[in-house]
Amino acid sequence: MEKRIQENELVLPSLFLMEINDGHITTEKLIPQLREIMRPSGEDLEILNSRNDDKFSQKVRNLKAHNTFERLGYAEYTDGVFSIVLKGQEYLEQNRDILTYLLNNDFSYPDLIKNLKIVEKEKKREIQIFDENLIIQEGMKIIVEREVYIRSKKLRDYALDFYQNQGKLCCSCCGFNFSDFYGKEIGDEFIEMHHIRPIFQYKGDNLVQTLKDAVHNVAPVCSNCHRMIHRHGRQPLQMEELAQYVKRNGIFNISAY
Ligand SMILES: [Zn+2]
Ligand SMILES: [Zn+2]
Repeated sequence: MEKRIQENELVLPSLFLMEINDGHITTEKLIPQLREIMRPSGEDLEILNSRNDDKFSQKVRNLKAHNTFERLGYAEYTDGVFSIVLKGQEYLEQNRDILTYLLNNDFSYPDLIKNLKIVEKEKKREIQIFDENLIIQEGMKIIVEREVYIRSKKLRDYALDFYQNQGKLCCSCCGFNFSDFYGKEIGDEFIEMHHIRPIFQYKGDNLVQTLKDAVHNVAPVCSNCHRMIHRHGRQPLQMEELAQYVKRNGIFNISAY
């Protein structure tokens, strides 16, 4: 039955929600909570014929109808409640960085779905992520997870090089250049990287090729613009949109000291 594969992208986020709800969740609670963290759009919002339900809700219900969690061995379903089991906790743990990366960067729903599907499908191949923001946010992780740090730094260096060769290293939204504003001594080569689309690499795959492809999915932005882009969480502003705002309103006044 080809239908079965359809809700696989909900597995990791659902396990995550079970975990934060003390290990258990009902389908009725799972639907709005998944909706909240995944922000479905497009086809998944279509109301199904003769039902008071959209496709997204139906996908969540299919987790039970298709015994998805039991089949994978990640959770059990009794008396209307899903409960995460040890194998599910281990699976969640293995993929926690990927999930955090996908949810924290506010990727669009189609990108989120596509990449969660990849994670489910490629289970046997170890997926590596590049996200310096994840490391900054999680502080101590830098010590434990040197690997993520090294990878992210490689992407960062590659992207800095790439964008510097195209001219100055400026914010893609407002044109701010840290070196010009703060001086070379402290501002040189500083910029944040906004991830437009998720970037994965499989362990053992060619890193140089991955970086070559990946560089088009990150953009240099200043810290202020980066915060503005992500201000409303799962509905990030498009960079072109923010650039238009800056064009219309971007007057600032340096008079603090
Ligand atoms: Zn900016
Ligand atoms: Zn960003």
